[in-house]
Amino acid sequence: MIDMNRIIKRFLAAVLIPALLWMIPLPTRAAQGGKLIALTFDDGPGKPTGGLLDGLKERGIPVTFFMLGNCAESWPATVERAYREGHQIANHSWSHANMIYLSGEDAAWEFRRTNEELKKNSGGASGFLARVPYGNYNDTVRAAVGMPIIGWTVDPLDWKYRNAETVRKNIVSSAFDGAIVLVHDIHPTSVEGALLAVDDLTAAGYEFVTVRELFRRRGIDLQNGSVYRSAPPNGTDKGPVAPPVLETSVTDGVLTVTMSAGEGAEIRCTLDGSDPVFFGWKYTGPFAAWPGLNVRAVAAYCMNGSRSGEIAVTLTCPEARPPKMTVEDGRLILTSPDPGAAVFYTTDGGRPGHDSVRYDAPVTLDPGSVVRAVSGGEHWLDSGESCGWYSPLGVFFRDVMPEDWFARAVDTVAGAGWLRGVGDDLFSPSTPLYRGQLVTILHRMAGEPDAEALTFPDASEGDYFLPGARWAVSAGITERDEDGGFSPGETVSREELAVMLHRYLAATGTEAGGDSPLPFADRDEISPDALSAVDAVSARGILIGDMEGCFRPKAFLTRAEAAVIFARLLPNDAE
Ligand code: ZN
Repeated sequence: MIDMNRIIKRFLAAVLIPALLWMIPLPTRAAQGGKLIALTFDDGPGKPTGGLLDGLKERGIPVTFFMLGNCAESWPATVERAYREGHQIANHSWSHANMIYLSGEDAAWEFRRTNEELKKNSGGASGFLARVPYGNYNDTVRAAVGMPIIGWTVDPLDWKYRNAETVRKNIVSSAFDGAIVLVHDIHPTSVEGALLAVDDLTAAGYEFVTVRELFRRRGIDLQNGSVYRSAPPNGTDKGPVAPPVLETSVTDGVLTVTMSAGEGAEIRCTLDGSDPVFFGWKYTGPFAAWPGLNVRAVAAYCMNGSRSGEIAVTLTCPEARPPKMTVEDGRLILTSPDPGAAVFYTTDGGRPGHDSVRYDAPVTLDPGSVVRAVSGGEHWLDSGESCGWYSPLGVFFRDVMPEDWFARAVDTVAGAGWLRGVGDDLFSPSTPLYRGQLVTILHRMAGEPDAEALTFPDASEGDYFLPGARWAVSAGITERDEDGGFSPGETVSREELAVMLHRYLAATGTEAGGDSPLPFADRDEISPDALSAVDAVSARGILIGDMEGCFRPKAFLTRAEAAVIFARLLPNDAE
C-alpha cells in the first residue's frame, strides 16, 4: 500500500531537518594532512583590527592575536569579537616592555595582569599562550611568563616597510608548512598585505590554523616556559576539531539528548539560545529535554583557539515505529515497539490518529474489518501506519487488503485452509510459489491422504512439504528431479502448474467437463508434453491467459496468482 501521508511526512522531514540544524562556519575547511600555517598578529588590538576581522571572516580563516593588555583594555569589543569568531586570544604583555630589563616580579606582573584583562572579554577563557616583546627572553623571563612562549619563523618586517604588496610578498616567499608568521595589526598596510597573502597561500594549498591548533594537530604538547617557533610536518595530523554530534532518543517516554565529540574534546552547550562560546556549560552526559528546545554546542580541546564550529539544533520528537499487529482467535493485539508510546487504531478503514480509539487491551474483530494503527504520543511523532485485513472468512493478513485484486481469492483459499501465510501474518502475495508449497496445497485439497513414506535426498523428516511431496510423487502428480530429490525450493512455471493440476484432477476424479481449449497467442511456446494439460485446464477456465491472450507458459507463478487459480477450484466461487 502506498501511504501518501507517510510519504509527505518523510518529505517534510527531509526538507525541515536541515533547516533546523545549521553550523556556524568556523574554519575547518581543508582536508587532514595538508600544509598548515599560523598567522599571528601582535601589538593590538587597535583601529585596523576590525577590518582585519572582517577580512578573516570573509575568508573563514582563524588566526592568533598576541594582544597587549593595555590595548585590550581600550578595545574590549574587539577582543570579544575576535574570541567569538574563533580566533585565539594570546598574551603579549601589558606594556610591551623589553622583559630582560625587568625584574622577574615585574615581568610576571606584565603577563598576569594581561591575562586578567583578556579573560574579561573572552568568556573567562584560559589556556593563554604568550609572546615576549621583541622576542627577548632569558631564564628569568621564561620562568616569569609561566606560559608556553611562542616565537615566529616568518617575519615580513611589516612594521618597517608599511607597504601592503611588500608585506604580501615577504610572507608568501618565506612561508612553509608549519610556519608561524609574525604580523602587526596596528598598521593598515600590514592588515591589507596579510589578507592578500592569505589568498595566495590558500590558493597554494595552505590551511590556516591558530597557534594552539598548529601544535595540537601535529601532536605537540606545549609546556610552560618553553619556546616554540614552528611545527614542521612530522607525520601527525590530528585533523580539525569536529563539531559535536547530537542525537535524540525517547526512553520511557522522555526525550533524551546525547552528544558526542572527538576523543579528549569537551562539549560546551546552552539550551536557552545563548552563545555556547561565552555561556556554555560543560556537557557531562545524556539529559532529558523537550521538543522545541534550542541546543547550541561546540566541541573544543581548548575553547581559546582549539574549538569546532557550532551546531544549533531545535529539538523535534523522533518518529515512533509502527505498531506491531496480530490477530489471535479473532482478537486484535497491538503493541508499540517504543515502550511508553500509545497506539491508536481504527477497524473501519479510517485513518488512525490521536482522536481514534487508544488501544489498551485485545479487541474482538468483526470479519471483514480493515485495521489501521499508528504509534505515537507525547514525545513521538506519529509512526507510519500498520494495517491488516481480517477477512470475511476470518483470516488475518497484514499484506492483503480488500481492494487488492487477489484479496477475495486469498480469503477463499486461506479460509479453506489450502494456502496459509508465510508467517508473521504475511501472505507474501508477490513472492513465487515454490514446489514444496504447491504440493502441500494440492495435498490439502485432496484431504491430506496418507502416502508411501518415500525419502528424498533433499528432504528431512519433519519438513513441511514432505507429506505433500510423498503423496504427489506416489500419486504421479509430479516426479522426482534428476538426482532423485524433490527440489522443494524451485519456482513453478505456469505450464508446470497446468501439468500438475491436470494430473491432480485426474487422480481425484474431477477431470471431466469444460469448454474448448483457449486459443493462446503464444501456444507455440508451450512445451509439447505440457500442451494437452494446458488445453484441459484452460478449457475448464482454471488457468486462463493474460490480457493479451497469452498463456505465458514459462512465467513463474506468484502466490497471489496461485490463490486466484486455486480459488477457481472451490465450489461457488465466481471469479
Ligand atoms: Zn610586539
